[in-house]
Amino acid sequence: MTRPDAGPTSAGPTSAGPTSAGGPVADRATAGFRQRYGEQPVGHWAAPGRANLIGEHTDYNDGFVLPFALSLRTVVAAAGQPGEVWTACSELAREPVEFTADDLAEPGRVTGWGAYVAGVVWALREAGHTVPGARLAIASDVPLGSGLSSSAALEAAVLAALVDLGGLDLPAAQQPRLAQRAENEYVGAPTGIMDQSAVIRCREGHALFLDCRTEAVEHIPFDLDAAGLAMLVIDSRAPHRHADGEYAARRASCEQAARALGVPALRDVPADGLADALTRLPDDETRRRVRHVVTEDQRVLDTVALLRAGRIRDVGPLLTASHDSMRDDFEITVPEVDTAVRAALSAGALGARMTGGGFGGCVLALVEAASADPVVAAVTSAYAERGFTAPGHVTVLPAPGATRL
Ligand code: ADP
Ligand code: MG
Repeated sequence: MTRPDAGPTSAGPTSAGPTSAGGPVADRATAGFRQRYGEQPVGHWAAPGRANLIGEHTDYNDGFVLPFALSLRTVVAAAGQPGEVWTACSELAREPVEFTADDLAEPGRVTGWGAYVAGVVWALREAGHTVPGARLAIASDVPLGSGLSSSAALEAAVLAALVDLGGLDLPAAQQPRLAQRAENEYVGAPTGIMDQSAVIRCREGHALFLDCRTEAVEHIPFDLDAAGLAMLVIDSRAPHRHADGEYAARRASCEQAARALGVPALRDVPADGLADALTRLPDDETRRRVRHVVTEDQRVLDTVALLRAGRIRDVGPLLTASHDSMRDDFEITVPEVDTAVRAALSAGALGARMTGGGFGGCVLALVEAASADPVVAAVTSAYAERGFTAPGHVTVLPAPGATRL
Protein backbone atom coordinates (compact mmCIF):
# COMPACT_ATOMS: atom_id res chain seq x y z
CA MET A 1 0.00 0.00 0.00
CA THR A 2 1.17 3.55 -0.43
CA ARG A 3 2.93 5.09 2.46
CA PRO A 4 2.38 8.57 3.73
CA ASP A 5 3.09 11.88 2.15
CA ALA A 6 4.77 12.93 5.37
CA GLY A 7 7.21 9.99 5.36
CA PRO A 8 8.21 7.93 8.35
CA THR A 9 10.18 9.58 11.13
CA SER A 10 13.80 8.67 11.46
CA ALA A 11 12.82 6.41 14.34
CA GLY A 12 10.24 4.71 12.11
CA PRO A 13 7.91 2.02 13.32
CA THR A 14 9.60 0.22 16.18
CA SER A 15 8.67 -2.79 18.23
CA ALA A 16 8.01 -2.43 21.94
CA GLY A 17 8.94 -5.97 22.84
CA PRO A 18 6.36 -8.73 23.12
CA THR A 19 3.17 -8.02 21.18
CA SER A 20 0.38 -6.72 23.42
CA ALA A 21 -3.37 -7.27 23.17
CA GLY A 22 -3.60 -4.25 20.85
CA GLY A 23 -1.16 -5.87 18.40
CA PRO A 24 1.94 -4.42 16.77
CA VAL A 25 0.37 -1.06 15.93
CA ALA A 26 -0.54 -0.45 19.60
CA ASP A 27 2.98 -1.48 20.56
CA ARG A 28 4.37 1.10 18.15
CA ALA A 29 2.10 3.76 19.66
CA THR A 30 3.38 2.83 23.15
CA ALA A 31 6.98 2.95 21.95
CA GLY A 32 6.36 6.35 20.35
CA PHE A 33 4.78 7.63 23.56
CA ARG A 34 7.63 6.44 25.77
CA GLN A 35 10.25 7.78 23.39
CA ARG A 36 8.71 11.25 23.16
CA TYR A 37 7.33 11.77 26.67
CA GLY A 38 9.53 9.46 28.77
CA GLU A 39 6.57 7.78 30.51
CA GLN A 40 3.87 5.18 29.97
CA PRO A 41 0.53 6.16 28.39
CA VAL A 42 -2.58 5.65 30.52
CA GLY A 43 -4.43 3.94 27.69
CA HIS A 44 -4.85 3.19 23.98
CA TRP A 45 -7.72 4.05 21.67
CA ALA A 46 -8.09 2.68 18.15
CA ALA A 47 -10.13 3.57 15.09
CA PRO A 48 -10.14 1.69 11.76
CA GLY A 49 -9.85 2.77 8.16
CA ARG A 50 -12.91 2.05 6.03
CA ALA A 51 -13.90 0.96 2.56
CA ASN A 52 -17.23 1.57 0.90
CA LEU A 53 -18.62 -1.78 -0.23
CA ILE A 54 -21.05 -0.11 -2.61
CA GLY A 55 -22.79 3.26 -3.11
CA GLU A 56 -20.42 5.67 -4.87
CA HIS A 57 -21.23 9.36 -5.34
CA THR A 58 -24.61 8.67 -3.76
CA ASP A 59 -23.82 10.47 -0.48
CA TYR A 60 -24.18 14.05 -1.71
CA ASN A 61 -27.31 13.00 -3.60
CA ASP A 62 -28.94 12.20 -0.24
CA GLY A 63 -28.73 8.48 -1.07
CA PHE A 64 -27.39 5.27 0.42
CA VAL A 65 -23.90 3.96 1.17
CA LEU A 66 -22.66 0.70 2.67
CA PRO A 67 -19.17 1.06 4.15
CA PHE A 68 -17.38 -1.39 6.43
CA ALA A 69 -14.49 -0.83 8.83
CA LEU A 70 -11.13 -2.34 7.97
CA SER A 71 -8.90 -4.53 10.05
CA LEU A 72 -6.24 -1.83 9.53
CA ARG A 73 -6.30 0.79 12.24
CA THR A 74 -4.88 3.89 13.81
CA VAL A 75 -3.97 3.70 17.49
CA VAL A 76 -3.51 6.63 19.85
CA ALA A 77 -1.55 6.08 23.06
CA ALA A 78 -2.50 8.91 25.41
CA ALA A 79 -2.27 10.46 28.85
CA GLY A 80 -3.61 13.68 30.32
CA GLN A 81 -1.38 16.68 30.98
CA PRO A 82 -2.05 19.80 33.06
CA GLY A 83 -3.44 22.95 31.46
CA GLU A 84 -5.02 23.48 28.08
CA VAL A 85 -2.08 22.12 26.12
CA TRP A 86 -2.21 19.32 23.57
CA THR A 87 0.89 17.59 22.24
CA ALA A 88 0.89 14.90 19.55
CA CYS A 89 3.42 12.92 17.57
CA SER A 90 2.93 10.35 14.84
CA GLU A 91 5.23 7.69 13.47
CA LEU A 92 4.01 8.86 10.05
CA ALA A 93 4.89 12.53 10.45
CA ARG A 94 8.29 14.10 10.85
CA GLU A 95 7.19 16.91 13.13
CA PRO A 96 5.24 16.64 16.38
CA VAL A 97 2.59 19.28 17.05
CA GLU A 98 1.75 21.25 20.15
CA PHE A 99 -1.05 23.78 20.55
CA THR A 100 -2.87 25.61 23.31
CA ALA A 101 -6.41 26.94 23.73
CA ASP A 102 -5.22 30.25 22.17
CA ASP A 103 -4.31 28.45 18.95
CA LEU A 104 -7.87 27.14 18.73
CA ALA A 105 -9.51 30.56 18.60
CA GLU A 106 -10.26 30.00 14.94
CA PRO A 107 -9.51 27.37 12.27
CA GLY A 108 -6.24 27.76 10.39
CA ARG A 109 -3.70 28.34 13.15
CA VAL A 110 -2.64 24.69 13.34
CA THR A 111 -1.87 23.32 9.88
CA GLY A 112 -0.60 20.08 8.31
CA TRP A 113 -1.40 16.77 9.96
CA GLY A 114 -1.76 18.46 13.36
CA ALA A 115 -4.90 20.19 12.06
CA TYR A 116 -6.77 16.86 12.29
CA VAL A 117 -5.88 16.63 16.00
CA ALA A 118 -6.49 20.31 16.69
CA GLY A 119 -9.75 20.11 14.73
CA VAL A 120 -11.08 17.46 17.10
CA VAL A 121 -10.21 19.52 20.19
CA TRP A 122 -11.68 22.60 18.50
CA ALA A 123 -14.94 20.83 17.56
CA LEU A 124 -15.33 19.42 21.09
CA ARG A 125 -14.87 22.88 22.58
CA GLU A 126 -17.28 24.39 20.04
CA ALA A 127 -19.84 21.81 21.21
CA GLY A 128 -19.36 23.06 24.78
CA HIS A 129 -17.12 20.35 26.19
CA THR A 130 -14.23 21.01 28.55
CA VAL A 131 -11.38 19.13 26.90
CA PRO A 132 -8.53 17.92 29.10
CA GLY A 133 -4.94 18.73 28.07
CA ALA A 134 -3.33 15.60 26.66
CA ARG A 135 -0.22 13.98 25.26
CA LEU A 136 -0.82 11.71 22.31
CA ALA A 137 1.37 9.33 20.30
CA ILE A 138 -0.07 7.90 17.11
CA ALA A 139 0.74 4.80 15.10
CA SER A 140 -1.22 3.54 12.11
CA ASP A 141 -1.54 0.75 9.60
CA VAL A 142 -4.01 2.73 7.49
CA PRO A 143 -2.22 4.02 4.39
CA LEU A 144 -2.52 7.79 4.05
CA GLY A 145 -4.27 9.29 1.06
CA SER A 146 -5.33 5.98 -0.53
CA GLY A 147 -9.04 6.56 -0.03
CA LEU A 148 -9.27 4.29 3.03
CA SER A 149 -9.97 7.26 5.29
CA SER A 150 -6.87 7.54 7.39
CA SER A 151 -8.12 11.06 8.16
CA ALA A 152 -11.35 9.86 9.79
CA ALA A 153 -9.43 7.10 11.60
CA LEU A 154 -7.10 9.71 13.08
CA GLU A 155 -9.98 11.98 14.10
CA ALA A 156 -12.00 9.14 15.62
CA ALA A 157 -9.08 7.67 17.60
CA VAL A 158 -8.15 11.10 18.99
CA LEU A 159 -11.80 11.82 19.77
CA ALA A 160 -12.24 8.51 21.60
CA ALA A 161 -9.12 9.21 23.68
CA LEU A 162 -10.20 12.73 24.65
CA VAL A 163 -13.78 11.68 25.46
CA ASP A 164 -12.49 8.97 27.83
CA LEU A 165 -9.66 11.02 29.37
CA GLY A 166 -12.07 13.89 30.06
CA GLY A 167 -15.05 11.73 31.03
CA LEU A 168 -17.03 13.71 28.42
CA ASP A 169 -20.68 12.98 27.79
CA LEU A 170 -20.70 12.38 24.03
CA PRO A 171 -22.63 9.30 22.87
CA ALA A 172 -21.22 7.41 19.87
CA ALA A 173 -24.21 8.46 17.74
CA GLN A 174 -23.14 12.11 18.06
CA GLN A 175 -19.44 11.57 17.45
CA PRO A 176 -19.46 11.29 13.61
CA ARG A 177 -20.93 14.80 13.19
CA LEU A 178 -18.35 16.25 15.53
CA ALA A 179 -15.43 14.54 13.76
CA GLN A 180 -16.86 15.62 10.40
CA ARG A 181 -16.97 19.20 11.65
CA ALA A 182 -13.30 18.94 12.61
CA GLU A 183 -12.42 17.86 9.08
CA ASN A 184 -14.80 20.21 7.20
CA GLU A 185 -14.40 23.36 9.23
CA TYR A 186 -11.03 23.11 10.95
CA VAL A 187 -8.96 21.16 8.42
CA GLY A 188 -10.98 22.61 5.54
CA ALA A 189 -11.58 19.33 3.67
CA PRO A 190 -15.11 18.86 2.35
CA THR A 191 -16.28 15.34 3.19
CA GLY A 192 -19.71 13.83 3.74
CA ILE A 193 -20.77 11.96 6.87
CA MET A 194 -19.88 8.47 5.60
CA ASP A 195 -16.23 8.26 6.63
CA GLN A 196 -16.71 9.33 10.23
CA SER A 197 -19.91 7.27 10.61
CA ALA A 198 -18.13 4.15 9.37
CA VAL A 199 -15.00 4.42 11.47
CA ILE A 200 -16.96 5.22 14.63
CA ARG A 201 -20.11 3.12 14.31
CA CYS A 202 -19.21 -0.03 12.34
CA ARG A 203 -19.41 -3.44 13.97
CA GLU A 204 -17.22 -6.48 13.43
CA GLY A 205 -18.59 -8.84 10.77
CA HIS A 206 -21.05 -6.18 9.57
CA ALA A 207 -21.35 -3.41 7.02
CA LEU A 208 -23.02 -0.12 7.93
CA PHE A 209 -26.10 0.76 5.89
CA LEU A 210 -26.25 4.55 6.07
CA ASP A 211 -29.03 6.73 4.76
CA CYS A 212 -27.19 9.97 3.98
CA ARG A 213 -30.42 12.00 4.13
CA THR A 214 -31.62 10.95 7.57
CA GLU A 215 -28.26 9.67 8.90
CA ALA A 216 -30.10 6.55 10.10
CA VAL A 217 -27.75 3.57 10.32
CA GLU A 218 -28.33 -0.15 10.34
CA HIS A 219 -25.80 -2.93 10.90
CA ILE A 220 -26.00 -5.47 8.09
CA PRO A 221 -24.41 -8.93 8.56
CA PHE A 222 -21.30 -9.22 6.37
CA ASP A 223 -19.26 -12.03 7.89
CA LEU A 224 -16.78 -12.82 5.13
CA ASP A 225 -14.72 -15.12 7.30
CA ALA A 226 -17.65 -17.37 8.22
CA ALA A 227 -18.61 -17.59 4.54
CA GLY A 228 -15.09 -18.66 3.48
CA LEU A 229 -14.64 -15.39 1.58
CA ALA A 230 -12.06 -12.63 1.64
CA MET A 231 -12.01 -9.01 0.55
CA LEU A 232 -8.93 -7.82 -1.25
CA VAL A 233 -8.17 -4.11 -1.16
CA ILE A 234 -5.93 -3.36 -4.13
CA ASP A 235 -4.20 0.01 -4.15
CA SER A 236 -4.27 1.09 -7.79
CA ARG A 237 -1.30 3.43 -7.25
CA ALA A 238 -2.82 5.62 -9.96
CA PRO A 239 -1.90 9.27 -9.54
CA HIS A 240 -5.05 11.24 -8.64
CA ARG A 241 -5.44 13.20 -11.89
CA HIS A 242 -7.67 16.29 -11.51
CA ALA A 243 -9.73 14.45 -8.88
CA ASP A 244 -10.90 17.60 -7.04
CA GLY A 245 -12.12 19.42 -10.15
CA GLU A 246 -13.82 16.31 -11.54
CA TYR A 247 -15.53 15.69 -8.20
CA ALA A 248 -16.89 19.23 -8.15
CA ALA A 249 -18.08 18.86 -11.75
CA ARG A 250 -19.95 15.59 -10.99
CA ARG A 251 -21.55 17.16 -7.96
CA ALA A 252 -22.65 20.23 -9.88
CA SER A 253 -24.11 18.12 -12.67
CA CYS A 254 -26.12 16.02 -10.16
CA GLU A 255 -27.46 19.18 -8.52
CA GLN A 256 -28.44 20.67 -11.88
CA ALA A 257 -30.17 17.44 -12.86
CA ALA A 258 -32.16 17.38 -9.60
CA ARG A 259 -33.28 20.96 -10.28
CA ALA A 260 -34.27 20.07 -13.83
CA LEU A 261 -36.32 17.15 -12.51
CA GLY A 262 -37.90 19.23 -9.75
CA VAL A 263 -36.72 16.99 -6.88
CA PRO A 264 -34.69 17.96 -3.78
CA ALA A 265 -31.97 15.42 -4.68
CA LEU A 266 -31.43 12.54 -7.10
CA ARG A 267 -32.27 10.14 -4.29
CA ASP A 268 -35.88 11.15 -4.95
CA VAL A 269 -35.84 9.62 -8.42
CA PRO A 270 -37.03 6.03 -7.90
CA ALA A 271 -35.43 3.26 -9.96
CA ASP A 272 -38.73 2.57 -11.71
CA GLY A 273 -39.05 6.26 -12.56
CA LEU A 274 -35.62 6.45 -14.15
CA ALA A 275 -36.66 5.93 -17.78
CA ASP A 276 -39.18 8.75 -17.51
CA ALA A 277 -36.72 11.04 -15.73
CA LEU A 278 -34.12 10.50 -18.46
CA THR A 279 -36.52 11.80 -21.11
CA ARG A 280 -36.77 15.06 -19.17
CA LEU A 281 -33.03 15.77 -19.10
CA PRO A 282 -31.30 18.06 -21.58
CA ASP A 283 -28.27 16.10 -22.76
CA ASP A 284 -26.72 12.68 -22.92
CA GLU A 285 -23.97 13.38 -20.40
CA THR A 286 -26.45 14.49 -17.73
CA ARG A 287 -28.59 11.43 -18.50
CA ARG A 288 -25.62 9.15 -17.88
CA ARG A 289 -24.73 10.90 -14.62
CA VAL A 290 -28.30 10.51 -13.35
CA ARG A 291 -28.48 6.89 -14.47
CA HIS A 292 -25.38 6.12 -12.41
CA VAL A 293 -26.72 7.70 -9.23
CA VAL A 294 -30.20 6.20 -9.46
CA THR A 295 -29.02 2.69 -10.36
CA GLU A 296 -26.25 2.88 -7.73
CA ASP A 297 -28.76 3.69 -4.96
CA GLN A 298 -30.77 0.66 -6.11
CA ARG A 299 -27.63 -1.51 -6.08
CA VAL A 300 -27.02 -0.53 -2.45
CA LEU A 301 -30.58 -1.55 -1.56
CA ASP A 302 -30.19 -4.82 -3.50
CA THR A 303 -26.87 -5.53 -1.77
CA VAL A 304 -28.44 -4.94 1.64
CA ALA A 305 -31.29 -7.32 0.76
CA LEU A 306 -28.86 -10.05 -0.35
CA LEU A 307 -26.71 -9.67 2.76
CA ARG A 308 -29.77 -9.81 5.00
CA ALA A 309 -30.66 -13.09 3.27
CA GLY A 310 -27.13 -14.42 3.92
CA ARG A 311 -26.32 -14.48 0.19
CA ILE A 312 -22.89 -12.80 0.32
CA ARG A 313 -21.56 -14.44 -2.87
CA ASP A 314 -24.47 -13.04 -4.89
CA VAL A 315 -23.29 -9.51 -4.07
CA GLY A 316 -20.35 -10.00 -6.47
CA PRO A 317 -22.22 -9.12 -9.69
CA LEU A 318 -23.62 -5.96 -8.08
CA LEU A 319 -20.09 -4.81 -7.23
CA THR A 320 -19.04 -5.36 -10.84
CA ALA A 321 -22.16 -3.59 -12.15
CA SER A 322 -21.28 -0.65 -9.89
CA HIS A 323 -17.84 -0.51 -11.45
CA ASP A 324 -19.24 -0.61 -14.98
CA SER A 325 -21.59 2.23 -14.11
CA MET A 326 -18.73 4.34 -12.68
CA ARG A 327 -16.67 3.63 -15.79
CA ASP A 328 -19.31 4.16 -18.48
CA ASP A 329 -21.92 6.49 -16.98
CA PHE A 330 -20.20 8.50 -14.26
CA GLU A 331 -16.79 8.38 -16.00
CA ILE A 332 -14.66 8.47 -12.88
CA THR A 333 -12.40 5.46 -13.39
CA VAL A 334 -8.88 5.43 -14.85
CA PRO A 335 -6.99 2.74 -16.81
CA GLU A 336 -5.24 1.38 -13.71
CA VAL A 337 -8.47 0.64 -11.79
CA ASP A 338 -10.20 -0.74 -14.90
CA THR A 339 -7.22 -3.04 -15.44
CA ALA A 340 -7.26 -4.22 -11.82
CA VAL A 341 -11.01 -4.94 -11.93
CA ARG A 342 -10.79 -6.82 -15.24
CA ALA A 343 -7.81 -8.90 -14.13
CA ALA A 344 -9.40 -9.73 -10.75
CA LEU A 345 -12.61 -10.90 -12.46
CA SER A 346 -10.78 -12.97 -15.04
CA ALA A 347 -8.85 -14.69 -12.22
CA GLY A 348 -12.09 -15.72 -10.52
CA ALA A 349 -13.09 -12.81 -8.25
CA LEU A 350 -16.84 -12.94 -7.52
CA GLY A 351 -17.06 -9.19 -8.07
CA ALA A 352 -14.77 -6.17 -8.16
CA ARG A 353 -15.12 -2.41 -8.20
CA MET A 354 -13.23 0.79 -7.61
CA THR A 355 -14.12 2.19 -4.19
CA GLY A 356 -13.96 5.87 -3.29
CA GLY A 357 -14.42 9.09 -5.20
CA GLY A 358 -12.54 7.95 -8.29
CA PHE A 359 -9.58 8.83 -10.52
CA GLY A 360 -7.40 6.35 -8.63
CA GLY A 361 -7.57 5.01 -5.10
CA CYS A 362 -8.40 1.41 -4.27
CA VAL A 363 -10.22 -1.50 -5.88
CA LEU A 364 -12.22 -4.02 -3.83
CA ALA A 365 -12.30 -7.62 -5.01
CA LEU A 366 -14.61 -10.12 -3.33
CA VAL A 367 -12.94 -13.51 -3.58
CA GLU A 368 -13.17 -17.06 -2.29
CA ALA A 369 -10.54 -17.14 0.48
CA ALA A 370 -8.52 -19.68 -1.53
CA SER A 371 -8.50 -17.43 -4.62
CA ALA A 372 -6.92 -14.38 -3.01
CA ASP A 373 -3.37 -15.22 -4.11
CA PRO A 374 -4.20 -16.04 -7.76
CA VAL A 375 -6.27 -12.85 -8.02
CA VAL A 376 -3.40 -10.74 -6.68
CA ALA A 377 -1.00 -12.48 -9.08
CA ALA A 378 -3.33 -11.78 -12.03
CA VAL A 379 -3.66 -8.09 -11.17
CA THR A 380 0.09 -7.76 -10.67
CA SER A 381 0.87 -9.33 -14.01
CA ALA A 382 -1.79 -7.26 -15.86
CA TYR A 383 -0.17 -4.16 -14.37
CA ALA A 384 3.30 -5.29 -15.46
CA GLU A 385 2.08 -5.89 -19.01
CA ARG A 386 0.82 -2.31 -19.23
CA GLY A 387 3.87 -0.79 -17.53
CA PHE A 388 1.90 0.54 -14.52
CA THR A 389 3.53 0.99 -11.10
CA ALA A 390 3.03 -2.31 -9.24
CA PRO A 391 -0.21 -2.31 -7.20
CA GLY A 392 -0.34 -2.73 -3.41
CA HIS A 393 -2.75 -5.11 -1.76
CA VAL A 394 -4.04 -6.20 1.60
CA THR A 395 -6.76 -8.67 2.66
CA VAL A 396 -9.27 -7.22 5.11
CA LEU A 397 -12.23 -8.35 7.22
CA PRO A 398 -15.14 -6.18 8.40
CA ALA A 399 -13.83 -4.87 11.72
CA PRO A 400 -15.24 -2.94 14.69
CA GLY A 401 -15.36 0.85 14.83
CA ALA A 402 -13.48 3.11 17.25
CA THR A 403 -12.83 1.57 20.64
CA ARG A 404 -10.65 1.70 23.72
CA LEU A 405 -8.15 -1.16 23.62
P1 ADP B 1 -7.41 9.46 3.32
O1 ADP B 1 -8.36 9.85 4.38
O2 ADP B 1 -8.07 8.89 2.12
O3 ADP B 1 -6.30 8.57 3.79
P2 ADP B 1 -6.89 12.28 3.36
O4 ADP B 1 -6.15 13.17 2.42
O5 ADP B 1 -8.30 12.58 3.65
O6 ADP B 1 -6.71 10.80 2.79
O7 ADP B 1 -6.14 12.26 4.75
C1 ADP B 1 -4.74 12.03 4.80
C2 ADP B 1 -4.09 13.02 5.74
O8 ADP B 1 -4.51 12.75 7.10
C3 ADP B 1 -2.57 12.87 5.77
O9 ADP B 1 -1.97 13.62 4.75
C4 ADP B 1 -2.23 13.40 7.15
O10 ADP B 1 -2.21 14.81 7.17
C5 ADP B 1 -3.43 12.95 7.99
N1 ADP B 1 -3.20 11.68 8.70
C6 ADP B 1 -3.99 10.59 8.67
N2 ADP B 1 -3.51 9.62 9.46
C7 ADP B 1 -2.37 10.08 10.01
C8 ADP B 1 -1.40 9.53 10.90
N3 ADP B 1 -1.51 8.30 11.40
N4 ADP B 1 -0.36 10.32 11.24
C9 ADP B 1 -0.24 11.57 10.76
N5 ADP B 1 -1.11 12.13 9.91
C10 ADP B 1 -2.17 11.41 9.52
MG1 MG C 1 -9.88 11.33 4.22
